[in-house]
Amino acid sequence: MPELPEVETIARGLAKRVTGDVIDSVWLGQKKEPLKSPASAIAATLEHSCIAAVRRMGKHIVFDLDCVGRTLLSAKGRGPNSRRARSKAPLAQPSSTPHAEADRSVRPTRAQWIVHLGMTGRLQVCEPQSEVAKHTHAILKLSSGRELRFVDPRRFGRLSVAQAGDFDAAGIEPLEADVETFLPLFQGRKTPIKSALLNQNLLRGVGNIYADESLFRAGLRPRRRASTITRDQLGKLLVAVKEVLKEAIALGGSSISDYVNSDGEEGFFQLQHRVYGREGEPCLVCKTPIKRIVIAGRSSHYCPKCQK
Ligand SMILES: [Zn+2]
Repeated sequence: MPELPEVETIARGLAKRVTGDVIDSVWLGQKKEPLKSPASAIAATLEHSCIAAVRRMGKHIVFDLDCVGRTLLSAKGRGPNSRRARSKAPLAQPSSTPHAEADRSVRPTRAQWIVHLGMTGRLQVCEPQSEVAKHTHAILKLSSGRELRFVDPRRFGRLSVAQAGDFDAAGIEPLEADVETFLPLFQGRKTPIKSALLNQNLLRGVGNIYADESLFRAGLRPRRRASTITRDQLGKLLVAVKEVLKEAIALGGSSISDYVNSDGEEGFFQLQHRVYGREGEPCLVCKTPIKRIVIAGRSSHYCPKCQK
């Protein structure tokens, strides 16, 4: 499953390739699972839209869309006839809530296409003559002549559309967090720190591998209760989380073009793991064998000497 650094790298790679391109037409497959919004709403929102930006939010890839030559209709919660349906709110002032107003002032785009890659989802930018892979669920024809395809064999990935500013992933962005926003997430929590790190309602997009690696660098055992960790230690943990994610993103930058075009699932970079997947192997710092335990159904790796 792609984790935050992979999704960040993929989003950056896509941004380089498709920003400014216009979506001429959209083909969607028959399988229902990948479509979180109705097919008609996805097609109506994407067609004739310009891709203004591509960015990561949590583990989602968000395409900010500007309309080209026609008015976009609200795609949220509409049925199959949404293309004909008129928004009740006047289109000239589509957002009257303070929340949407605030978002709009930051990002004056009209709609968003939101992609979650799930376990095996891939976004490919390719020439139209290139063979359509099995398990292709969406093909966007771009005015540059290329196609943007969504391929997902296991169908845990999700495609949806929203009006600009409507989509908001839960939790805070770990890379943007500071100590003041990070500390309150864990205060008073009796759960193991590892579970808290993986809780997507607290932090966006920190997965199993990066949680283990961050805890090792911060010297904290995965089973340690979050509420018992001192302010200083949490400060260290935040630094470790950012370091680990940034290192992985830096490593990913060089391999992104292969990944986006690739038909294979292999080929992503790997952070040099210090504990993850190294059960029984000597700790790189003190040579003590790395231990593996299971917390909430997930493997956790740590050094019993370096981590307290
Ligand atoms: Zn050690």
